[in-house]
Amino acid sequence: MSKVLYISSEAFPLIKTGGLGDVAGSLPIALLKKSQDVRLLLPAYPEVLNKITKIKKLAITSYYDLPVEIVETRLPGSNVIVWLVDCPAVFDRPGGPYTDNHGQPWDDIALRFAILCHAAVDIALNNLQLNWQPDVVHCNDWQSGLVPALLSLHSKRPATVFTIHNLAYQGIFKQQTFTDLHLPIELWHMDGLEYYGQLSFMKGGLAYADKITTVSPNYAREILEPEFSFGFDGLLKQRAADISGIINGIDEKYWNPGTDKYLEHKYNRRSLNKKVRNKTALQKELSLPVDDSIPMIGMVSRLVEQKGLEIILPSLETLLAMPLQIVILGTGETHYEILLSEYAHKHPERLKVIIGYNEPLAHRIEAASDMYLMPSTFEPCGLNQLYSLRYGTLPIVNNVGGLADTVINSSEENINNGTANGFVLKQQSTTSLLATIQRALTLYQKPEIWRQLQTNAMSGSFSWQTSAEHYVNLYQQALNEL
Ligand code: ADP
Repeated sequence: MSKVLYISSEAFPLIKTGGLGDVAGSLPIALLKKSQDVRLLLPAYPEVLNKITKIKKLAITSYYDLPVEIVETRLPGSNVIVWLVDCPAVFDRPGGPYTDNHGQPWDDIALRFAILCHAAVDIALNNLQLNWQPDVVHCNDWQSGLVPALLSLHSKRPATVFTIHNLAYQGIFKQQTFTDLHLPIELWHMDGLEYYGQLSFMKGGLAYADKITTVSPNYAREILEPEFSFGFDGLLKQRAADISGIINGIDEKYWNPGTDKYLEHKYNRRSLNKKVRNKTALQKELSLPVDDSIPMIGMVSRLVEQKGLEIILPSLETLLAMPLQIVILGTGETHYEILLSEYAHKHPERLKVIIGYNEPLAHRIEAASDMYLMPSTFEPCGLNQLYSLRYGTLPIVNNVGGLADTVINSSEENINNGTANGFVLKQQSTTSLLATIQRALTLYQKPEIWRQLQTNAMSGSFSWQTSAEHYVNLYQQALNEL
């Protein structure tokens, strides 16, 4: 049994903006089941404090002359102990973890997460006398990237693991920020936190963690190549021996069409004929023409280039002339929000675009749709295609990252050998997207084959069971090599 400090900037159901929230809200539970003594460290955002009832004060300290308390609570619905870094000066304000209510990144975002990192380091070194010192510190994405770097300066330290959920977000700041944050000068060099004259939080993880993981085996290979590495292929190649890919699991209780509390019409593999009732219910809810036979394509996503908007938008005119309905729920870059809303306005019978973040609606779209659109340019793991598989909603994906690891194309061969569970684009292009959707629509007209594909999709296992075991083994390996 290892003591694991798991650091994240979000964790469902306390706070979530994307996939990291889902992972940090479910992997610690799976680790606990594997007898790991795990503590989840999170910033005490107001949204988090509003959701918890019992809290216990554990320690008082300060960073950058700002008072900080470490308080203890539980991850709702589980026994996972959560330690919150409560620093009102930087966290107690309305807005998201990374941006204000207008989507603008926080001016003091570097300070916010430097404080999270300092608290993690103090816990890791037992400086706060919490009566619990981790064997392993597991960091996630750039927000906790300074932790392995700062810990590397101490000889008696826990092992460090750094997980890349998305290499595109790197926490890059001016050199002045390095000075302002009083970071140790020995970390400022090209093999350290410096990234072409700037400070990179992410590099702290990539350069200093004992072990690096990504959230799918395929993405672990891809990031060694310039196309997917965001400039880090050199460093990552050097670290290749310490990099591995562990596929994300999903919370199979929360994302279960048989018990989903947000669905009026629950269904499972054996009662798949009930799935269509979710489609007609959603059509009513969203004022789309009610028609149980029209194929529906769903998408729930951050509206950013990564998610394939550059090939989706040019396809829309052609797609919307076909007999189908498209439902898109998302928020993101304003120009995508505007363009999509304009298309929806022009084609009210075919396209619904809901700009916003809406967890219950996300579940209803998964259940209602026949197909799920996710032609990402890159995708470290991707969770929505996994939710789609579980809901018998066949994903249409690009052949990258975790999408390639989890979606098996409905080629004739794969249909015949009973493995096909979705549709994979030949390449990331509008032509390929349209051809793939066309193929999906053709198969949709063959109910027996479609039903088989849905059954294949719903039979896959995406529990945390195996992946949590891989993390436990990796912790052990990191400890043995320390
Ligand atoms: P990423 O982490 O890159 O955003 P993932 O597919 O790994 O993509 O995870 C996205 C998670 O965020 C999923 O749980 C998805 O349902 C959720 N999500 C994204 N946008 C929205 C939204 N507008 N409303 C509700 N849930 C959303």
